Amino acid sequence: MNLRQYSTIVKSLMSIKKTLSKLNKELTPYNCQLIAVSKTKPASDILEAYNCGQRNFGENKAQELVKKYETLPKDIKWHMIGHLQTNKVKYIAPFIHLIHAVDSEKLLTTIDNEAKKNDRKINCLLQLHIGDEETKFGMNEDELVSVLDKVNSGQFENVNITGLMGMATNTYDKKQIKREFKGLKNLLEELKIKYSSEHLQLKELSIGMSGDYNLALKEGSTMVRIGSSIFGERSYP
Ligand SMILES: *Cc1c(COP(=O)(O)O)cnc(C)c1O
Repeated sequence: MNLRQYSTIVKSLMSIKKTLSKLNKELTPYNCQLIAVSKTKPASDILEAYNCGQRNFGENKAQELVKKYETLPKDIKWHMIGHLQTNKVKYIAPFIHLIHAVDSEKLLTTIDNEAKKNDRKINCLLQLHIGDEETKFGMNEDELVSVLDKVNSGQFENVNITGLMGMATNTYDKKQIKREFKGLKNLLEELKIKYSSEHLQLKELSIGMSGDYNLALKEGSTMVRIGSSIFGERSYP
């Protein structure tokens, strides 16, 4: 390694530490948890954050998540934050801490079955489609309520639904982002009153990324998923 490569690495390590400390200071008054989104980033970046005390990490691809789980410290809590295909659930079912983006009853059924095989309960958030973009995943309100009814009646024994997740529209319009977050928060509060059972405790609200976490905090986020602010820009999304 030459000096230039070395100093680039040192710089990037310093900035991970600095950013984490800044974020933790911002999040503490809101009682909000930081999920460090490490997708596409090497294990060395994750370890640096780990050595600063960070334990919750988010990934959006099952294979990458499994690889990192296998090589990194076992007290890391892994969050699956991206769209999850049913045929990939089995790979993460033995150890996943929280699945953020459950967007269909079919996916929840698969998670329940795989959790059963592993003799464990898997925590899940239901993803509501709140943004403008058709390309984004998530259920509409009717689908969400229909899934909650089934969970409430005890149909899924090996999953716990602990809250909701959403992704705001990718826009500079802060008012729009705020409106989308607020809509999800209001829905969570409404559903909280209606639903409460052994496998259904709606307390978490997973909203906010690098570009909009400040807005999300004000709208009641309990988990922000932040990647590029901590680890730098990704070379692919
Ligand atoms: C990549 C990703 C994030 C983090 O995005 P940044 O803008 O890098 O903070 C958050 N949530 C999901 C679902 C993601 O896929």
